[in-house]
Amino acid sequence: MTDTFVIVGGDAAGMAAASKAKRDASDLEVVVFEKGEWVSYGACGLPYYVKGEIQSLEHLVSVTPEEFREERDIDLRTGHEVVAIDPDAKTVTAEHDGGETVQPYDSLLIATGAESVVPPIDGTDLEGVYTLGSMSDGKELREYVARARKGESLQQPDRGPACRYLEDCTGSVGVVGGGYIGIEMAEALAANGFEVNLFQRGDRVLKGFSEATSEAVADHLREQDVAVHLDTEVETLSGDERVEAVVTDDDRIEVEMVLLGTGVRPRTALAEDAGIELGETGAIETDAYRETNVPDVYAAGDCAEATHVVTGEPAYVPLALTANRHGRAVGQTVTGRPTEGGAIAGTAAVKAFDVEAARTGIIDHDEAREAGFDPISETITAKSRAGYYPDGGTVTVTLTADRDTKRVLGASLVSEYGEGAVHRSHAVVGALEEGATVFDLENYDLAYAPPFNTTWDPVLVASKVLS
Ligand code: FAD
Repeated sequence: MTDTFVIVGGDAAGMAAASKAKRDASDLEVVVFEKGEWVSYGACGLPYYVKGEIQSLEHLVSVTPEEFREERDIDLRTGHEVVAIDPDAKTVTAEHDGGETVQPYDSLLIATGAESVVPPIDGTDLEGVYTLGSMSDGKELREYVARARKGESLQQPDRGPACRYLEDCTGSVGVVGGGYIGIEMAEALAANGFEVNLFQRGDRVLKGFSEATSEAVADHLREQDVAVHLDTEVETLSGDERVEAVVTDDDRIEVEMVLLGTGVRPRTALAEDAGIELGETGAIETDAYRETNVPDVYAAGDCAEATHVVTGEPAYVPLALTANRHGRAVGQTVTGRPTEGGAIAGTAAVKAFDVEAARTGIIDHDEAREAGFDPISETITAKSRAGYYPDGGTVTVTLTADRDTKRVLGASLVSEYGEGAVHRSHAVVGALEEGATVFDLENYDLAYAPPFNTTWDPVLVASKVLS
């Protein structure tokens, strides 16, 4: 049983650990250092805040600092940046308001998250170039959108209307990166009247999903008047002080603002400086209990690796549920009940205007081969509701399995928004978790009623085709 449990990072992994530890062991001293002012916030909601669907940043906070301090008895210190860990002395050093605190620990959790990747091209430091990785990024972007909506089009005041939603159209913007943040932000910006140019280096958006999903999403983005530039390398962002154009390998597109959605990298410097090892993915390596190579030092969430449920190998998939689950497991472990917190399947979802998509497991054939499988995939499109039931749509399912063993390896699904691609992916997650074959999946006793699906749900149809 630990006496002092110290946590670096006050969001999903950190606060889940703090809350669980304190709930299970009320006499445990739990100290959380968070360098920013926000804790326990839902960064996942930021694109919808920028879009204007969520009115206040406070609405993204699940538990306030005061509630953590007063109701959960957690010693939460915001505005404190941990700058060093001394594993021999078992202390961390935090800087705050020009001062410094040295805090001893018995157990330590590193939950420092991830940071946005800024691509190594010229012009990313120009005004009008944004990333969306933190609450303050979200605030800046929302303020930018609000200014533009008021007609203060910063770069091109004379530009003609280019929007579908507003008469006082704003202007043209660039989104670099066709991953889920790029796509969610394309929607958020288009909904505010911007003419959106989405630049993607590869030949499809959402490259972790199936080709069928990527194609459906890209087609829909185009239907929504987003200019999707595939196979396009952004070479420079040009401008004097403010960004004025995105220069690609074969074009120059005038823009007044650029959002970089070019991925994240684990925030590991603090851990590395303390001699904590990283894995091959570049994130912090841990055992099944999230303990690092340094005894009593744990790592969880976006800064750490996890084990992939299909390959059994370390993987880096920075997502919110993993952070919450693994943080909570560490919170339980440090109170004397060792808890693993489980593997990951890389299950992810995205909404793109009126389309929803999900992916889980291993879909990419090269990745599957690398893991020792002989992959085979089938793609089917089926009705999302009974044919006679009004207002249905279609669901396209790509299911991947191992050719010989028929073990289910992964799936990618896409449907109209509300027609169930995302929730249907959960049946496949179950199959991955139990190492099921397509024969097993085909016999899963899924619910059926006409407003929700067909008797044979599209996931079952896909498994029948593969079996
Ligand atoms: P973080 O949330 O990054 O928190 C780490 C905290 O540590 C930060 O508050 C940081 O200030 C603090 N910190 C770092 N270093 C120090 C230090 N030295 N001292 C003190 N404090 C420090 N995931 C999904 O599953 N679904 C989604 O739809 C989704 N959408 C997203 C949309 C956006 C725009 C973004 C940015 C992320 C999204 N994510 C989504 C990812 C999800 O937000 C993360 O997986 C989750 O927040 C990870 O939690 P964490 O606690 O590991 O790290």
